[in-house]
Amino acid sequence: MDLDAIFVGGGVIGLSGAWRAARRGLSVAVVDPAPGHGASWVAAGMLAPVTEAHFGEERLVSLLVAGADRWASFAAELEETTGLDIGYQRCGTAVVALDTSDRAVIDDLLELQWSFHLDSVRLSGSQCRDLVPALAPGVRGGAHVPGDHQVDNRRLIAALLRACALSGVDLVASEVVEVTTRVDRSATGVRLIDRSVIEASTIVLCAGSETGLLGGVPPDVLPPVRPVKGVVLRLRGSASVPLVTRTVRGLVHGRSCYLVPRADGSLVLGATSEERGFDRTVQAGAVHALLDDARALIPGIDELELVECMAGLRPGSPDNGPFVGWTEVPGLAAATGHFRNGILLAPLTADALVAMVVGNPVPDPLSGFGLGRVIRGGSGHAASTSARPISTRTPER
Ligand SMILES: Cc1cc2nc3c(=O)[nH]c(=O)nc-3n(C[C@H](O)[C@H](O)[C@H](O)COP(=O)(O)OP(=O)(O)OC[C@H]3O[C@@H](n4cnc5c(N)ncnc54)[C@H](O)[C@@H]3O)c2cc1C
Repeated sequence: MDLDAIFVGGGVIGLSGAWRAARRGLSVAVVDPAPGHGASWVAAGMLAPVTEAHFGEERLVSLLVAGADRWASFAAELEETTGLDIGYQRCGTAVVALDTSDRAVIDDLLELQWSFHLDSVRLSGSQCRDLVPALAPGVRGGAHVPGDHQVDNRRLIAALLRACALSGVDLVASEVVEVTTRVDRSATGVRLIDRSVIEASTIVLCAGSETGLLGGVPPDVLPPVRPVKGVVLRLRGSASVPLVTRTVRGLVHGRSCYLVPRADGSLVLGATSEERGFDRTVQAGAVHALLDDARALIPGIDELELVECMAGLRPGSPDNGPFVGWTEVPGLAAATGHFRNGILLAPLTADALVAMVVGNPVPDPLSGFGLGRVIRGGSGHAASTSARPISTRTPER
């Protein structure tokens, strides 16, 4: 019997969508040779609509704010379902500047945030140190952003995998080589690397930065995502005497870095942003630069143990916004291109994917983030033409 939906890729997007769809009573499979070990594993887990607000991205900022609003209930339901703590911390964020030019940049960003009615408060250098006592004496000032929180993305992945298993999602440990189609071009399923085929009414492409590489359909049907490399370090600290207790995002002579504290006292230190194709090597220079900048802000990191250096590939898009919607191939949907905010946007994206799979339009605010905005002839609102409505078997719990 055909499935209702196949999710190609089991990162935070595919796993969240599959879990929510299975909760809705749909029959679902996720195909991934290494679920949860793409960008979703490397990420820092910041849920940061305010500090991710950039000039010229007004529409995206509204989406990020909506994404953040969805998090508390998503986290509560996931923890209740699985009995696992996902490290969702409403810890707020301090933004700090090392020199006066950095301070001027942060002041400009504050003006932007206030123009969007986002909640952030300008701080002097000493107010920054009151908020984060571990900061270096030279820090010039910055801001407090009380609503930018975090989740431990690795705990999140573990919980999503368990939630999927508990909800009956079929986790297929394999690689999809192509989408299979009928003569009328509609999608019927996926062919795996061992040549076997799985069929479903809807195929959702959520293979992160590799989504554009899938075969079986013309390349220009696929969302134009590209890999944007980010190197992240993990430092081990003390849970009983944590160095910092809220996220610190800093500017150091024009370069940005962040330190995200976990409940166990460890710190996630990131990140570079590099256009190097699918290269995942960690270069010494990147590690050196990150450590150098972070210790200029928080000298105490010198005493922590460096336990991991890893590179991940963000799924970048031409306008930094995600692609969530139908492709031109009937039955073939995409959810990718979440770039720097895939963890933040996972709950909202999952809701949209469930709506699509059951034959409803993509809900706001994701309705404006279809493929039609960049692909000639595509449609951002194609649910009515490409979705194949199906009925759910059990009511949502
Ligand atoms: C350094 C760094 C820091 C980040 N920090 C944050 C942050 O603080 N907050 C935030 O919100 N976001 C952050 N992000 C962004 C976030 O990690 C991504 O947007 C998000 O993880 C994308 O999820 P995804 O499921 O689309 O992709 P991925 O997590 O990359 O998952 C894609 C999956 O598809 C699978 N796949 C690929 N090809 C195939 C195939 N042919 N067949 C089957 N499976 C396939 C892969 O194995 C992989 O598991 C960060 C990213 C990086 C790299």
